[in-house]
Amino acid sequence: MDPRGRGRASRIVRRQDGPATRLRCDIAVLGAGIAGVSAALEAARLGRKVALIDAAPQLGGQSVASVIGTFCGLYSNGPEPYQVTHGIADGILRDLGAEGALHPIRGRRNTIIVQYREQALGRWIERQVAAEGVMPVLSALLVSVRREARRIRGLDLATRFGMLEVEADGFVDASGDAALAWTAGLPCREPQEPIFGTQMLVIEGFDEEALAKLDRAELQARLASKAARHGLLRHDGFVFATPGKGTALVNMTHAETPLDPVGLAQAQAAGREQGDRLLEFLRAEYPAAFGAARVRTYGQIGIRQTRWIVGRHHLTVDEVRQGYRHPDAIGRCSWPIELHDRADGVYWEEFGDGHIHWVPLGAMIPPDIDNLVAAGRCIDGDPAGLSSVRVMGPCIAMGAAAAHALDLAGSGAVAQIDIGRLQARLHDNLERRD
Ligand SMILES: Cc1cc2nc3c(=O)[nH]c(=O)nc-3n(C[C@H](O)[C@H](O)[C@H](O)COP(=O)(O)OP(=O)(O)OC[C@H]3O[C@@H](n4cnc5c(N)ncnc54)[C@H](O)[C@@H]3O)c2cc1C
Repeated sequence: MDPRGRGRASRIVRRQDGPATRLRCDIAVLGAGIAGVSAALEAARLGRKVALIDAAPQLGGQSVASVIGTFCGLYSNGPEPYQVTHGIADGILRDLGAEGALHPIRGRRNTIIVQYREQALGRWIERQVAAEGVMPVLSALLVSVRREARRIRGLDLATRFGMLEVEADGFVDASGDAALAWTAGLPCREPQEPIFGTQMLVIEGFDEEALAKLDRAELQARLASKAARHGLLRHDGFVFATPGKGTALVNMTHAETPLDPVGLAQAQAAGREQGDRLLEFLRAEYPAAFGAARVRTYGQIGIRQTRWIVGRHHLTVDEVRQGYRHPDAIGRCSWPIELHDRADGVYWEEFGDGHIHWVPLGAMIPPDIDNLVAAGRCIDGDPAGLSSVRVMGPCIAMGAAAAHALDLAGSGAVAQIDIGRLQARLHDNLERRD
């Protein structure tokens, strides 16, 4: 062929009205954050055909896009913490550990917090989803839910390339905002007072040695006394440096995260503005540590607690404090109550050595639907109770439980499965102490 003829051919096309593209699977997971990823991978390992659907163009939800940066709630409390959640957490700890993408911090909040590199977690999720044969459906926004009596039959999604219908036997609402339950017309809860989100930052160019010498309490006190002068809403928070990597994670801002598109876009802008002002404060007040610091990554605005399902059980803060083990417990956690209900600070309530609290299946299942399970930050609880179990360790446990519960339910009702069988499958997340 004459090379000079290349690049000249095109064809004229016109949009044809036609039926939506249809996908059929066993289990459809709405939301590809850490809870949805856990649910999807567990369900695929059970031999189920799984679709993992998200409005975002990438997998990982906030764990990747908001640069959350640390796994909390994966270990028990005290001098000898043990891992309380396994499942996909084991693979993440093994594989990211092997590539040097993890940094465990011992002793903070009486437990182990594990810092991770968000790009490494994102790639791990993508590789596992491909390896397990999960069908990722990205840039697909839920617009309506098809429901017949007590069962969800399908989801209608708007995509960049037209409408998509997903039919399944079982559904997981891992959307964080209970988008599936809400769109299906089910009753949902919202907090009476707003729960603040955070603009996470990754910074670079700081002096690691000088940062290590900073007294955390003194930094907090100075922030409290000077925050207003710098236009900062929040008066506390923390900077986690990853030793030897030249980057640090900053969780020191607050922004409201309303459930409306314009409001949320404004919140994102306000969060970034807070992030910039915070860096100005750090540069001005601690020039040795932060004089040359700059932002390397602004995460997508971090959203904590917005809207969640009304379940068969309402997890209460008293159950969390008492460590009440529900008969239908599916996961456990020792993370503090971490309530971001004030613009200027966070209410922390840490637990003692050996404290464990539990997540019941009842808080994950809406009473009116047989084949829907919520997982992650949109399960039923009061705001303070939820503020502990929404961290990523228990989100992973909830995802695993959702997959197994739907697998056991088959064409029946999740509320009627044999809880003993479910708990036997979830043994590691309930009983292991090594
Ligand atoms: C700033 C901040 C800091 C935090 N720090 C920590 C920490 O250090 N350690 C820790 O363990 N936890 C932390 N948490 C808590 C934890 O990160 C979250 O609660 C957890 O990641 C929630 O996971 P998820 O899977 O439930 O939801 P998300 O990660 O929010 O995922 C939900 C997904 O659903 C999708 N979705 C929503 N609606 C629709 C729709 N209508 N159609 C299609 N898709 C939809 C979204 O695009 C999103 O990807 C933090 C949270 C915040 C906000």
